[in-house]
Amino acid sequence: MGRTRWVVGNWKQWGLRPAAHALASKVAAGLEAPPAGLRVGVAPPYLALDTVHAALAGAKVVRFAQDAAAQEEGAFTGEVGPAMLAEAGVEGVIVGHSERRHLLGESDALVAAKLGCALRAGMWAILCVGEPLKVRTAGRHEAYVLAQLEAALAHVAPSETGRLVVAYEPVWAIGTGRTARPEDAAAMHAAIRARLVDLLGGEGGDRSILYGGSVKPDNAGILAAAPDVDGFLVGGASKDADAFLSIVRTVAHHTKAHP
Ligand code: PEP
Repeated sequence: MGRTRWVVGNWKQWGLRPAAHALASKVAAGLEAPPAGLRVGVAPPYLALDTVHAALAGAKVVRFAQDAAAQEEGAFTGEVGPAMLAEAGVEGVIVGHSERRHLLGESDALVAAKLGCALRAGMWAILCVGEPLKVRTAGRHEAYVLAQLEAALAHVAPSETGRLVVAYEPVWAIGTGRTARPEDAAAMHAAIRARLVDLLGGEGGDRSILYGGSVKPDNAGILAAAPDVDGFLVGGASKDADAFLSIVRTVAHHTKAHP
């Protein structure tokens, strides 16, 4: 059996509670039991977590949040720590999403602190890395992404990374309708894989590397077949239950064909 594959929906700051409940209900109703080796997850907004979890009751869906604080607790107004999320039934978090890095100003150091805090709390942690367009145009994308990866892992021990998942999300592909070509995704995933092994030893070979950036039902098949692509972090298409379920089915077929 190879590495675990994932399809995780990032619902971002969309929808009020009734809409989130309806979306989760549709996902739960349409989801076939994922094959061994595939995990499906959703990351709703914080304030919809309880209603989404109620709608997902009994469904094999990993409960994510879209962010978490860089510390367990303290005088950090507005922050929500991993223990608080765990109490609310959350099993994993997204860390370092490009919208948080580039629109909300999160630094590599803050992302590293959030990652360490989530992993030490026993959460799944999807670490997002990816280059802006001008970095790719200048041909510096690999160095840029590997520097993000190294910075994020600077303070975690290999023994703490059992629940680490990496998502390569080129910034120019997020929410734009443009996707990386499968060969470009594969090249970056191979570079990330090699650096994970350098940094984490054997653990690095086992960690899943997801692709994210305008994944839709019509491009999921070709991207899922690219070497070293272990599934997807899906934004826009995860707001449509039929589209999300179609992507899950594509990755499920792939998982069964290439366990
Ligand atoms: C994301 O938000 O992580 C993402 C990949 O978004 P989209 O699928 O809309 O590009």
